[in-house]
Amino acid sequence: MISEKMIGFVKNSSIIRAMFEEGKRLDEIYGAENVYDFSLGNPSVEPPLNIKEALISVLNEEEPNLVHGYMNNSGYIDVREKIALSLNKKFNTNLSHENIVMTVGAAGGLNVILKSLLNPGDEVVTFAPFFGEYRNYVSNYDGILVVVPPNCETFQPNLNEFEKRITGKTKAVIVNSPNNPTGVVYSEDTIRKLAEILNKKQQEYNTSIYLISDEPYRELVYDNTEVPYLTKYYKNTIVVYSYSKSLSLPGERIGYLVIPSETDDYEDLVAAANVATRILGFVNAPSLIQRAVARCLDVQVDVEVYNRNRELLYNSLMSYGYECVKPQGAFYLFVKALEEDDKKFAQAAKKYNILIVPGSSFDCPGYVRIAYCVDYDMIKRSLPGFKNLARDYGR
Ligand code: PLP
Repeated sequence: MISEKMIGFVKNSSIIRAMFEEGKRLDEIYGAENVYDFSLGNPSVEPPLNIKEALISVLNEEEPNLVHGYMNNSGYIDVREKIALSLNKKFNTNLSHENIVMTVGAAGGLNVILKSLLNPGDEVVTFAPFFGEYRNYVSNYDGILVVVPPNCETFQPNLNEFEKRITGKTKAVIVNSPNNPTGVVYSEDTIRKLAEILNKKQQEYNTSIYLISDEPYRELVYDNTEVPYLTKYYKNTIVVYSYSKSLSLPGERIGYLVIPSETDDYEDLVAAANVATRILGFVNAPSLIQRAVARCLDVQVDVEVYNRNRELLYNSLMSYGYECVKPQGAFYLFVKALEEDDKKFAQAAKKYNILIVPGSSFDCPGYVRIAYCVDYDMIKRSLPGFKNLARDYGR
């Protein structure tokens, strides 16, 4: 018999699998070119050539036992040092390898830091809409996820509601900017106010509240939008970074945590993250790709490809009568469903072979997420379907 907890996880994951199966079923009936799958956040832009070249150079030039061997659980010291120096240059921080823990993507990083921090019953606050896996990751360590309701006008965090939800049991707050699913970038003003509230609450309860900044989309921004680096605004910030989107490497499973020296209980926290990496069974982040990304720290995918997709889809949908906050980052549009029930609306879109994800999956019913990390021509072909769908709702 599987565990009671896993019964719930399996049930939820079957909803996602059902959507995947539905895509395949439609492909078979209508032909893949006539099915418009906007449901997945899988990067469509190829990884930069530098990655391939770096992998080859690592294999040709470096010692095989180093490239393929065990290392410190936190990752290679030289790789971590290069990352720290690159961050210092970009964000004027003061980091060294001792502040970096290499992780198995952002998912691995989030699990490592939550395992390091949470006692059963500890609360982790996050803002709707949010990446649904947060619920599972917090539950892995018997924490309680506390959800702040959305501010649907701007999709900036709802700070009044946030303040009310912080208690003496709040151990961490997870933010994600640029955001999945809205594409919104949290403004500097928002970050300053959020930090102010956290400082006040830490004092009030005499606790440490860690701000976990989940930022796999940091490099995917448009219109020269600045994404504030949160360690500069709040002392107890931990950054969770990933190369899944910035270098289109989601299958390689590589990212890192930044744990600045000024965080409360820094030394224990770094020691815990190191051990958590080991005992969660990752042991260390994959070795070859660690060494390859260290050679590509100033490289990123061609964001202009996503920008073209964003402009085409956003402008077209607006002209058909849809409503949406124009995203400044990531590769998602979070569009108001044309009926109250977002699941029914996503179902109605299937009539035009359009696959989109109901906002309920992100704790924000009434909306749908459209992932535009797809081929530009597929977006073009899908537009008559979006237009007809709007027309069906009297737009
Ligand atoms: N956090 C957010 C907000 C995401 O959207 C994703 C993946 O889509 C992840 C974390 C996990 O990313 P990774 O592939 O780095 O584990």
